[in-house]
Amino acid sequence: MPAAKTIEDRAMELHSRAIVIDCHSDLLMPIADGFTRLATDLPVPESAAWTFEVPEGSHRRLDWPFGATSCIGQYSLPKFERGGLTVQVCAVFVDDHELDRALKRSLDMTWWFHREMEDNRDRIEHVCGCDEIRRVKAAGKCGAVLAIEGFEPLGLDLRLLDLFYKMGVRMAGLAHNRRNAWSDGTQHYVKTGGLTTLGKQAVRRMNEMGIVVDVGHLNTVGFWESIEASGAPVVLSHRSPRKFFPLKPEDSPFHPAYDVSQGRERLEALARNGGVFGVFFLAARDVEDVVDDIEYVAKLVGVDHVGLGSDLYGLAKAPQGLEDMSKLPAITTSMVRRGYTDEDILKILGGNFMRVFEKVWRR
Ligand SMILES: [Zn+2]
Repeated sequence: MPAAKTIEDRAMELHSRAIVIDCHSDLLMPIADGFTRLATDLPVPESAAWTFEVPEGSHRRLDWPFGATSCIGQYSLPKFERGGLTVQVCAVFVDDHELDRALKRSLDMTWWFHREMEDNRDRIEHVCGCDEIRRVKAAGKCGAVLAIEGFEPLGLDLRLLDLFYKMGVRMAGLAHNRRNAWSDGTQHYVKTGGLTTLGKQAVRRMNEMGIVVDVGHLNTVGFWESIEASGAPVVLSHRSPRKFFPLKPEDSPFHPAYDVSQGRERLEALARNGGVFGVFFLAARDVEDVVDDIEYVAKLVGVDHVGLGSDLYGLAKAPQGLEDMSKLPAITTSMVRRGYTDEDILKILGGNFMRVFEKVWRR
């Protein structure tokens, strides 16, 4: 049994040399709402209830998910740097109350994304290619990928996807939880419906352009239809595999509200597609719980098909030991302790997502 220090040392060495990719964060929301900036390192209460004092005189909405009462310190550039993160995928997501101005809202978030890249260009860059990711890694900087979570900003016009591509979007999911003109999402008690004709056209267009298809929020029908429609590997950017892809539906806390059937079959299909499952930290008890999720996918369909998709916003409680992005090395330490090989750890931390990006992106 090696000494504890040896494990920590090996983990730190591995982590610092790894390309570490987190496949989902909503940090553009509180930035666009004026609550924080990328380089602002707001505090995170350790493992306590994630509530936040309402600023004096605030006129902001206070409810879920990212109003003034939510903890928003989990993501920041200083925490990415301390946590050894190489690439943060940043989602453009339009909340229910903004649907009447979805395009405007998404452009606002996209503007903020580029503004943050500009203001912090010595430390982080917008990346659209794997060579760019390797270059920022070698330069000791971070990278950020721009993504769309839900196609509401496009209305009914697929041509707008071309414009979002020109604005730098390189990953996109057709739906969030709700149904839209492109697809059904994982809504409560909606088990029918999948991709619309428009949604299937969008998947093919994403393949043509070199945008990674994200099936993270689709229901079971939509999952199968996306895998079928996509000629390229997909990602499932942020989910708990044990809760959404259980071996038996009744094992999931979301059953019967969500369709969590065919868990094993869907994971096997994702693996055949060459895709990668981003395990989220949301609702995990602690770091070991997250690594248990990683292990579940790795054991069922192989270590080549799992990665990280943190999604730490909107929670009432912090996963212990993984309260914010500066704590990422704890995952590596846990995997070292569990006896994972260096090669497998590098794949899980980001190598697997790099493989998908290499296949899909045009540079
Ligand atoms: Zn999400």
